[in-house]
Amino acid sequence: MSWKTTEYTGWGRVLSANGQLARPERARALSEIAKTPCPAIGNRRSYGDAALNSDGKAIDMTRMNRILGFDAGTGVVTVEAGITIGELAHVFAPKGWIPAVMPGTGFATVGGCIAQDVHGKNHHNAGSFGQHVLSVTLLQGDKRTTATPTKNKDLFRATMGGIGQTGVIAEAKLQLKPCAGDVMMVTEQRADNWDQHINLLDASTAEYCVGWIDATATGGALGRGVIEEAELAKGLLPTAKPSKSVPMNAPNWALSGPIVRAFNAAYFRRVPGSGKSSVKRIDDFFFPLDKIHDWNRLYGKRGFHQFQNVVPLDQMDALREMLGLIARSGLASPLAVLKRMGPGRAGHMSFPMEGYTLAVDFPARDNAKDLIARLEDMTKDAGGRLYLAKDALATGPAIKAMYPEHGDWTKLADKADPDHAFATDMTRRLDLRNAI
Ligand SMILES: Cc1cc2nc3c(=O)[nH]c(=O)nc-3n(C[C@H](O)[C@H](O)[C@H](O)COP(=O)(O)OP(=O)(O)OC[C@H]3O[C@@H](n4cnc5c(N)ncnc54)[C@H](O)[C@@H]3O)c2cc1C
Repeated sequence: MSWKTTEYTGWGRVLSANGQLARPERARALSEIAKTPCPAIGNRRSYGDAALNSDGKAIDMTRMNRILGFDAGTGVVTVEAGITIGELAHVFAPKGWIPAVMPGTGFATVGGCIAQDVHGKNHHNAGSFGQHVLSVTLLQGDKRTTATPTKNKDLFRATMGGIGQTGVIAEAKLQLKPCAGDVMMVTEQRADNWDQHINLLDASTAEYCVGWIDATATGGALGRGVIEEAELAKGLLPTAKPSKSVPMNAPNWALSGPIVRAFNAAYFRRVPGSGKSSVKRIDDFFFPLDKIHDWNRLYGKRGFHQFQNVVPLDQMDALREMLGLIARSGLASPLAVLKRMGPGRAGHMSFPMEGYTLAVDFPARDNAKDLIARLEDMTKDAGGRLYLAKDALATGPAIKAMYPEHGDWTKLADKADPDHAFATDMTRRLDLRNAI
């Protein structure tokens, strides 16, 4: 298997690595290279450095994307870990099954979804991705180990949300969820301010629910946005139009304050006061940004950060204050989401907690870094946490304080990987393999 020295980046394009990548295509080749342990990476949809290994080796899993078995009666599928969520949805929705949890991009691989224990727009009732994983097969040097919620259960738990530190996830068995076709009935409603927004999200009984928030609106309009609720529905729609791509880095002014404010105002008014209903293909609903390839170039050469936190339900005033700071900074981009989360989480280092999660993108500028540092402190004080899949800036002590099971996880990660061969730029930056 050949190794190629490459410069590669996280999705935010702020952090990059120079290192050797191998892209095995066959299980035998993967087992061979995994004998000398190094981290596995997926489609690098994590924004920061979770999938980077500077000056070291990493296994790009994206060609390991076969479906190894499927039981049409139970919806249990066995896959190689490099298959993407979008591919799974595409293949199985017409057969009446979809992944039980889907993040906002179909390009995330199953390995990446397990290693970040991702959540979807149904987290409030379906929990996290790892809660629908029935087993994983891990490669740890010469060893091939299967872990399930009952067999090697500590290893299983340390692997869900374990940012790849327990070994290369070669295969996984997943429980899919039934669906009647590949369409969604979607309802959109406007919320004029923060209180209305929260009330609508709290009151929603829809299976899938998420709020787009105008993170530039201030004063009485702070927190205004559009609540999107959706249910799986019967039917099949024609295949979507081919994706477009962003051909080059956008100039700095493309996401300047006045342009973002004007865009957000128009996006808000797009939905009439009485609301709007539509039928969408599942990929248009779940992965709206995937239609534009390389949209991360819209932020220009310097890239961008996503700040995503979650705070407990009794800390909504703190979250409102954070949104106020963001709105007054004039730094936010149109991509901003507010969502109610349930308690579901599958591993020690899983992000979700019962509460509200806020995610906002910022072009990478020095003042955005300062703002994010302030938001990190406020999140910690509110008893919340930051999401490692999105992070490029946090500090180790803050993350350790936010993840109370971190110490237990380091012991299990050390048992699986005593030499820290699976360490990445992220685990080194945040000193995550160290309990203290
Ligand atoms: C547009 C967009 C929308 C998103 N929406 C959501 C969302 O709604 N909810 C959410 O939770 N996340 C969301 N994300 C984040 C994304 O789902 C996660 O970052 C996910 O981990 C990406 O998968 P990946 O295959 O690209 O993994 P990578 O980013 O390549 O890797 C992530 C981590 O997984 C490890 N890893 C990957 N594959 C393996 C393997 N086979 N074995 C062992 N370790 C492995 C890597 O070492 C790394 O630590 C979004 C990202 C984008 C770009």
